Amino acid sequence: MQAYQQFINGALVDSHSPDWIEVENPYTNEIISRVPQGDAEDAYAALEAASKSQGAWSKKTVAERAGYLKQMASLIRSSRIELARCLASEQAKVLPLAQVEIDFTADYFDYYAGWARIYEGEIISSDRLNENMFLFRKPIGVVVGICPWNFPFFVMARKVAPALLTGCSIVVKPSSNTPNTTFEFAKLVATLDLPKGVVNFVSGGGKTLGAALSSSSLADMVTLTGSVEAGQEIIRASAENITKVSLELGGKAPAIVFADADIGLAVSRIVASRVIFSGQVCNCAERAYVHSSIYDEFADKFTKAMKAVTKGDPFADPTPDMSSQIDKSQLLKIDAMVSRAKADGAEILTGGKIADSQTGYFYEPTVIAGARQDSEIVQKEIFGPAIPILPFDDYDEAIALANDCEYGLTSSVFSTNINTVMQSLRDLKFGETYVNREHFEGLQGFHAGWRKSGIGGADGKHGLMEYLQSQVAYIQF
Ligand code: NAD
Repeated sequence: MQAYQQFINGALVDSHSPDWIEVENPYTNEIISRVPQGDAEDAYAALEAASKSQGAWSKKTVAERAGYLKQMASLIRSSRIELARCLASEQAKVLPLAQVEIDFTADYFDYYAGWARIYEGEIISSDRLNENMFLFRKPIGVVVGICPWNFPFFVMARKVAPALLTGCSIVVKPSSNTPNTTFEFAKLVATLDLPKGVVNFVSGGGKTLGAALSSSSLADMVTLTGSVEAGQEIIRASAENITKVSLELGGKAPAIVFADADIGLAVSRIVASRVIFSGQVCNCAERAYVHSSIYDEFADKFTKAMKAVTKGDPFADPTPDMSSQIDKSQLLKIDAMVSRAKADGAEILTGGKIADSQTGYFYEPTVIAGARQDSEIVQKEIFGPAIPILPFDDYDEAIALANDCEYGLTSSVFSTNINTVMQSLRDLKFGETYVNREHFEGLQGFHAGWRKSGIGGADGKHGLMEYLQSQVAYIQF
């Protein structure tokens, strides 16, 4: 069984802690690896290394730093098959989707390498005679990147690539469920002549290692992708040192299907969105609102399509639509939420229970009708293959129902009427809206949540800016 080491100050090293975290393949239920249960000493060692290296790293030319990003992209591509298999086995992501994540991650490093000669400072007109004002953009310093288990490889790159390009150094903590691909990447990074300490990978619990990292005075920024609860704890931890936080948190994405929508398209897109990676994707449809004139037809077709969803071995050929949930606690959480919805009077159109299976943590694809707007199943992130569908009577009601939620990450609209689409884009209060399609943002966009879905964001020009701070110089001549 593979036993990974921490990657600190340019070397694969043993943890200060004698304890280990066992990593389970969620589909086979076998223990496939172990990673150190890192502690506060590991946190300090990694942050110290990042802190010591950051000054010299930021003084390299941006083109030179971009060169390392390109090398990382190329290393990922050279191991793309092995990395995809590693990812599929640590999280039961179907192999083709795991491959998409690995390939997209390589593209992500290349994309941010391309920003090397593009981001700029500013020259500002002064109110004084014979004075220029320069606005420099400087790296924020030492970044702590804390990652979730659902897209562990891509989210790691989402933090490492902009940090390194801008001259920051970084300490990354993967989720304890899915550390393997990150540590396989660490082994690849160890083969580069990257200055020591610029990138560090440490494993450990959120409330222990994660808390030690995010409360440290050595951290200049903490970027978390994870749950609202973890985001709240990181805000509290950042208070002492007024550390910058960038938080990408949960979602409860509404999908609105207007009366003039292409119903077949809406059904296929929303079903695919709800079951991709077994419903464990932050930006995928979590609740559907359907115009009452087409509700019955939609509900019928949608239920049939959810019944037809295939599930099984993530390595199987042909590929099933979905596989196991990440672990038993997630499976039980989904089942408990659906059970409470039933007890609250909702009707289960299909599914509604844990699936029979020899191995893995499978949940039946589930459609729920008749749930109240203010009920838990409509308001709280479920993160599994279950979705409530609710009718609405007019445009204003649809928008009000969609906006009535503490999350504000993503949303979607299905309509063939350009006016309805444009009005929806004006009125929906979400960081992202997909029109006549579902899930997955572009690397050149800006993935950012409103309300409890986060602060700050990632990708594109605006994602790069998160890692930069300004310095204004007043120059008399
Ligand atoms: P989680 O919050 O349980 O864990 C995320 C990371 O935070 C893990 O590495 C964990 O160890 C760490 N952590 C937990 N408590 C911490 C603390 N007190 N201090 C420091 N670190 C701590 O989330 P998860 O279960 O891994 O991921 C699922 C969640 O992530 C869902 O809510 C999903 O919507 C969200 N997510 C959001 C996005 C986005 O882009 N907005 C993307 C992917 C996942």
